[in-house]
Amino acid sequence: MLKVTDLQVSYGHVHALKGISLEVKQGEIVTLIGANGAGKSTLLRTISGLIRPSHGSITFEEEEVDRLSPDTVVNRGLVQVPEGRKIFSNMTVAENLKVGAYQRKDKEQVKEDLEEVYSLFPILKDRLDQMAGTLSGGEQQMLALSRGLLSKPKLMMLDEPSLGLAPVLVDTVFDVIEKVRDKGITILLIEQNAHLALETAERAYVLETGKIVLSGDSKTLLNDQAVIEAYLG
Ligand code: ATP
Repeated sequence: MLKVTDLQVSYGHVHALKGISLEVKQGEIVTLIGANGAGKSTLLRTISGLIRPSHGSITFEEEEVDRLSPDTVVNRGLVQVPEGRKIFSNMTVAENLKVGAYQRKDKEQVKEDLEEVYSLFPILKDRLDQMAGTLSGGEQQMLALSRGLLSKPKLMMLDEPSLGLAPVLVDTVFDVIEKVRDKGITILLIEQNAHLALETAERAYVLETGKIVLSGDSKTLLNDQAVIEAYLG
């Protein structure tokens, strides 16, 4: 469904991605793990059309997307969910949700999708008029995820959904990620919490200083000595 081939990105003289190739198949949860500065956010931003690669290609549903504008990429169904703190903090919860659906013409379906979001995260329904910036960290993550869902993604890229969450909320958010996959939405998950990511995903890629150093079945990587030492210790 998503195929990245030999992708390279530089910021001036910083070579942030040094030839990344990966694939996400329809219906999968694939995770990308790696330490701070490995290039995870750069990869997501490049797939989203926010950064132009200097080399390589990105195809989504067999079509090249690496020259498209970010909003065209979203319209194709390839949607990045930023980490929770990047919601619009000076807008209400309801307004944030509206932004997620603003490009959609199927307004009746949007209403149904909104009800589904409320059933996944009932707390958001109670907070519709609250300024998003005053939500707790966990509620902000839920809002970011909900906003992504309302843009009707085929493939959702999640950037650090566990960041700043209390353990009980991490479990809630990851339950939702699995529910989202069960609805038929494919997921590329960027996560610092390698244990959780590998428990949730079917397959994984390990990124180190701009290169994929390991990849495979998540369960296999969970037992891989190098992964245990570097990421699970
Ligand atoms: P983290 O988990 O800490 O966010 P990451 O894996 O997402 O890290 P990136 O943010 O993609 O890593 O950064 C990859 C490399 O590119 C880092 O060395 C970083 O310093 C560098 N970098 C990122 N953004 C820029 C920028 N705008 N200008 C220059 N260098 C940048």
